[in-house]
Amino acid sequence: MSGSGSEEPPPSQAAEEQQQEAEQDWAAAKAFYDNVVTQRPRPPKPQNAITIAVSSRALFNLVEEQKIYEDHGLEKYVEYQQNNENVILKPGPAFYFVKALEHVNARLLELYPDDEERFDIVLMTNNHAQVGVRLINSINHYGLTIERFCMTGGESPVGYLTAYLTNLYLSADSEKVQEAIKAGIASATMFTANKDVVYSDTQLRVAFDGDAVIFSDESEQIFKEQGLDRFFEHEQLNENKPLAQGPLKGFLEDLGKLQKKFYARNERLNCPIRTYLVTARSAASSGARVLKTLRSWGLEIDEALFLAGAPKGPVLVKIRPHIFFDDQMYHIEGAQKLGTTAAHVPYGIAQKYNKST
Ligand SMILES: [Mg+2]
Repeated sequence: MSGSGSEEPPPSQAAEEQQQEAEQDWAAAKAFYDNVVTQRPRPPKPQNAITIAVSSRALFNLVEEQKIYEDHGLEKYVEYQQNNENVILKPGPAFYFVKALEHVNARLLELYPDDEERFDIVLMTNNHAQVGVRLINSINHYGLTIERFCMTGGESPVGYLTAYLTNLYLSADSEKVQEAIKAGIASATMFTANKDVVYSDTQLRVAFDGDAVIFSDESEQIFKEQGLDRFFEHEQLNENKPLAQGPLKGFLEDLGKLQKKFYARNERLNCPIRTYLVTARSAASSGARVLKTLRSWGLEIDEALFLAGAPKGPVLVKIRPHIFFDDQMYHIEGAQKLGTTAAHVPYGIAQKYNKST
């Protein structure tokens, strides 16, 4: 019983009790799962997992369906999805990325069968529950391991993303992505790829832009407001001062943590994760600060490409990343045109310039 003159427990005690209750819930869920005979690995606890939330339009190609929704409304859309629930959806922009995450998981489970530190993919959709059947049929058809669905019924996903301790959120809806970024969750908007590309199915490849993606936009601001010469000068002056972190730093860190698990088992040359920095900075004038910042964080990046203002598209074609993150639509469009799956991170000063053009 609460009340009756007794004082509320102090906030730290309340948080501890809540934590204990959550632990008990997980223990009960584990006990239940341990009694079920199944070949499938048990989904990891959010605290241990690297949780990747994807929207249905990021995972599958729902361009046609979206058009039905926009032109004819929700009822017709749901009816169409129900009538076609046995028609398997085609892969969307995040599909091959998700496949690659699952390959990494399979390799991790071989090396560390009892460890929960791996990717957990959550489907975060504002779709109507009736559409869920088609999504489940498609997920099962491709053999994807996606056990957790959040059907938010049009509500903002931010609360659920936080509850799941989401490490990365990918959606086709730029407004939801902006909301998530504002809430401090690493997020990016995905666009339907306009070319079919063959991706590595044995190695997850992730390419990151530097400024306003892994790093903050502090130097980008100098470049945009005071020009290139002042930017070079500033970066050389501050070479030994690490840059502040940007929205995707945590995800690079997560990838690094998993890479180390492979290195620890002597699998460095056969590591199923490879990371790339693809930046418009030039090595000589502004590259050192970037490399020193990564070093100060204890993060390794497998390949660092300093393009000195050259277009990113042609280099990305060679890398063939499953996903490439950039904060500038100009680079996203350039990458996409040549067939790279690009994801826009709506963060930093470039957004102001995106809007004005
Ligand atoms: Mg940038």
